Amino acid sequence: MQTEEKFAYQDEQFADIQMLRYRVDGFECLTPARKALVYYLSEAALSGRDILWDQNGKYNLSIRRTLETIYTDYPGDRDTDDFKAFVVYQKRVWFSNGIHHHYGCGKFKPGFSEAFFRQALEQVPPEKLPLAEGQTARELCEMLAPVIFDPSVMPKRVNQADGEDLIRTSACHYYGEGLTQAEAEAFYACQKAQGDPRRPVMYGMNSLLVKNQDGRLEEKTWKADGMYGPAIRRIVYWLEKAAAVAETPQQAAVLRKLIEFYHTGDLHTFDEYTILWVQETGSIVDFTNGFTETYGDPLGLKASWEGYANFKDAEATARTEKLSANAQWFEDHSPVDGRFKKTVCKGVSAKVIKAAILGGDLYPASAIGINLPNSNWVRAEYGSKSVTIGNLTDAYNKAARGNGFQKEFVVDEATQELLDRYQDECDDLHTDLHECLGHGSGRLLPGVDPDALKAYGATIEEARADLFGLYYLPDPKLTELGLTPDGEAYKAEYYGYMMNGLLTQLVRIEPGKDIEEAHMRNRALIARWAFEQGKADRVAEMTVHDGKTYVRINDYGKLRGLFGQLLREIQRIKSEGDYEAARNLVERYAIKIDPALHSEVLARYRALHLSPYKGFINPVYTPVYDAQGRIEDVEVSYGEAYDAQMLRYSRDYATLPYQNE
Ligand code: ZN
Repeated sequence: MQTEEKFAYQDEQFADIQMLRYRVDGFECLTPARKALVYYLSEAALSGRDILWDQNGKYNLSIRRTLETIYTDYPGDRDTDDFKAFVVYQKRVWFSNGIHHHYGCGKFKPGFSEAFFRQALEQVPPEKLPLAEGQTARELCEMLAPVIFDPSVMPKRVNQADGEDLIRTSACHYYGEGLTQAEAEAFYACQKAQGDPRRPVMYGMNSLLVKNQDGRLEEKTWKADGMYGPAIRRIVYWLEKAAAVAETPQQAAVLRKLIEFYHTGDLHTFDEYTILWVQETGSIVDFTNGFTETYGDPLGLKASWEGYANFKDAEATARTEKLSANAQWFEDHSPVDGRFKKTVCKGVSAKVIKAAILGGDLYPASAIGINLPNSNWVRAEYGSKSVTIGNLTDAYNKAARGNGFQKEFVVDEATQELLDRYQDECDDLHTDLHECLGHGSGRLLPGVDPDALKAYGATIEEARADLFGLYYLPDPKLTELGLTPDGEAYKAEYYGYMMNGLLTQLVRIEPGKDIEEAHMRNRALIARWAFEQGKADRVAEMTVHDGKTYVRINDYGKLRGLFGQLLREIQRIKSEGDYEAARNLVERYAIKIDPALHSEVLARYRALHLSPYKGFINPVYTPVYDAQGRIEDVEVSYGEAYDAQMLRYSRDYATLPYQNE
């Protein structure tokens, strides 16, 4: 027996941030060995946290410790405006892994006074402050106050302004004091000139570049016995445990090669590791752990540390496999002209995964799709791994539903109930139909140029895949395959699709602008075309109450007929390469926006005060050991609060000194 834990996708909101929770459903079905593997990889992913904080700015670890001491130990009044503003600042710094905005890179402006900060530092226990040998709380304050409060000190984490010295004007900690951009560029140009031009390593990826006492440039490499050594040794400790319970010998070899790289810091070893990693596709559990993306370095060389563990989404994979296995049936029964159908049809399977833990530069803000490695020659010769993180997408979708957005835009109670009941399931299914069957269906007539539709090609192709899914959602075949619960479910997706295409996707567009992005154009095209063609029969309507516009659907059955009709036409356009017809459809339905409707929708959206940035609170994994000290199970729980999680990570995964060089 299990008790259903009360689970809310949305957690607290502060500044421009909304915290979300994600679920790892399916984890409980993994074998004990795989659970142990996920657990060890999760520990490895959390163990590098301090590295990222230091990379984001050399005072960040000191500041984190100082702020957290005030957060937990400040004895004064916590009801003042200063203290409340301090809490917001603390939460923002946690979120960004430093004092600069995670996305915009600008330094946060504290909402509390410097006087409050100074007196708070005097009042907390000094032994809890990050004091250097012989340093007093007041001296610490003198060091940190300008970094926190003076807007001219370290104003940007990454400066990209053309014409400025990007190293000297960026606060990120990838280059030492007194180094210029020109010197760093010359240093790496020289390294490149000496290396293999056809298979270049990731020069400079894993080191701090400094000027030593003789004025010469020198790399401080991030490795087990080098810079960030204590953190890296802890990561290696967990990776070794993971290697011992790896699913396959290939996966164990991947982990051992990564450990070797962490020991040597040798970039050739890193390439060998990525080649092994990209070729290892047979396991359920997978991971990323290491110096990975270079967005945080203005020169694009130094890689920030990130780590995550994931496992294949068995349910999503079962769904996509069912569709792929029946690809020919769907092709044969589509409303498309027989001349444009494939005679032999093979479905494509997209790999959907569930993130089990997010760490380093993937926490708390995370990507929802990841494609690695970044080495161009490794990609060209060995390919890459592309994943969609299904449980994060799911958390985003769920959050979008509980935040007042639908209450504002959905036409009535009955429709809202329909959405609540079916939309999640149907959304996923529509995506699967789109990816696994839609894009793979149909064929070009012999001699037709695949690029014949030119700039309209992407919109037409997305519309084709979306329509294939929309057309099949109501089909009894899907209920027969166990993919839809009943013949009503599709209506939720139809309503959501029409509301989005006609109305709500406009919230993402600035006033006066056109619709540009191909997926957005495709949705506008389908929804507006169906709306117009169904006008005589009143298939769908735009109704206005109290100055607010809503979409109402009167006849779902006829709407399916319209989607089928448009699919037939769009496939003809694609198969024949009919550029004129593509242009007419896209220009007429997919680009322009009615300015009055647009400003109405934007005003309604603004009034909801939704946060533009989102991040995730991790689940908590607790291993259960047997008498021999081996992991026999791992339990998952979701209840940890944002601040509690951050404080726990700072306590349990503190690996580095406050100052690193
Ligand atoms: Zn697509």
